[in-house]
Amino acid sequence: MALPDATYPTVLLRPGEADRVVAGHPWVYAGAVLRVTRPVADGDPVQVKDHRQRFLGVGFYNSGSQLRVRLLSRVREPLDEAFFERRLREAWAVRERHLPGATSMRLVNAESDQLSGLIVDRYGDVLVMQTSSLGMDRRKKMIAGLLGRIFSPRAILERNDSAGRRFEGLPESQGWLAGKTEGDVAVELNGVRFQVDLLSGHKTGLYLDQQVNYARVAELIARMPGAQVLDAFSFIGGFGLHAARAGAGHVHFVDQSEEALAGAKRHAELNGVAARCSFETANVFDWFKGRTQRGPHEQLVPPFDAVVLDPPSFTRSRAAVLDALRGYKEIHLRALKLLKPGGLLATFCCSHHVDAVTFQDVILAAAADAHRLLRRVASFQQSPDHPVLPAIPETEYLKGYAFEVVG
Ligand code: SAH
Repeated sequence: MALPDATYPTVLLRPGEADRVVAGHPWVYAGAVLRVTRPVADGDPVQVKDHRQRFLGVGFYNSGSQLRVRLLSRVREPLDEAFFERRLREAWAVRERHLPGATSMRLVNAESDQLSGLIVDRYGDVLVMQTSSLGMDRRKKMIAGLLGRIFSPRAILERNDSAGRRFEGLPESQGWLAGKTEGDVAVELNGVRFQVDLLSGHKTGLYLDQQVNYARVAELIARMPGAQVLDAFSFIGGFGLHAARAGAGHVHFVDQSEEALAGAKRHAELNGVAARCSFETANVFDWFKGRTQRGPHEQLVPPFDAVVLDPPSFTRSRAAVLDALRGYKEIHLRALKLLKPGGLLATFCCSHHVDAVTFQDVILAAAADAHRLLRRVASFQQSPDHPVLPAIPETEYLKGYAFEVVG
């Protein structure tokens, strides 16, 4: 299996550029490259060495991308079909170990699984594949063949319509790589049923990264039988549906997308909990304002036993972090005002640029303003099918907490 030193062209790094790679990061930026020893075609394998010729790893090359090399392995080995089979089986073993019994999950999460440029989601017996690097894109038929052999899915769908592909010079592309399904695909997360439209334009429809957190928040809500729950930024209702199934007395779903709420309603019916659910299309910021503003002598009677806050990322860049923090503080302040003493706040942040400590600081600042003392009862991160490799900070983005309002 060893790769003869002469097999792949060598990308030599400038002095000082190897440290990050040595520490475990798989990206080699264009500016880090000193020279390439032989001509290499875009999408082909190369080996990477530091300026002293010390071997660092093998990966795919693309002269058209700022990510000049994406390393896939730190040992001398050919990046052939057998390599991909080993990597896919390793990724599957991680899911089997940490998400036992799950039937839908992210099977391959790019850098998290040492497969930069490849994402594979499993929705029941259908696989959805995305390739975002040229090297991976070239090999998608071979990878789909392996996925077919290892997982025997009913169908494999390519959903390569993400904007990121243009950074690699790749066109959008979508269609069946194997088999075919008609209509929605039935999916279960923690026993809650969903119908997902894998083909439709905008999203595959489920937040698989919250799978474990849905179950954990539902467990906390099950300890408060009959709870009045608010699911803010509900989308199709991942948290609220789990809460209703766990015994909530009522769940109110709020989202600005009418389409998302129509989905939440359909799913409430599918799971037999619609009678205990209500749905409201609104901007959560405005909705919170309307529900918390009072005149000087009016008292606000908090209506909720539990509030779930799962907003989209408020910032995609480091520069906009301060604005994002203001947004996070505002929704927490208002949410805390609407919570009864002893109530539960489950809150999430998927901004990569806001870390867990900063996120908690913002919540505490909001709690101080709302004159509430909080007891932290759980900390959350992304589900284990989105593995966090601390050497690759980009692999960590989702964090969350559950707090009780000290009565
Ligand atoms: N909790 C959901 C995922 C939420 S995704 C789940 O687990 O399935 C974020 C959602 O927030 C999207 O559905 C989006 O429509 C909604 N959203 C974004 N900004 C909003 C705003 N200002 N007011 C209300 N909804 C908003």
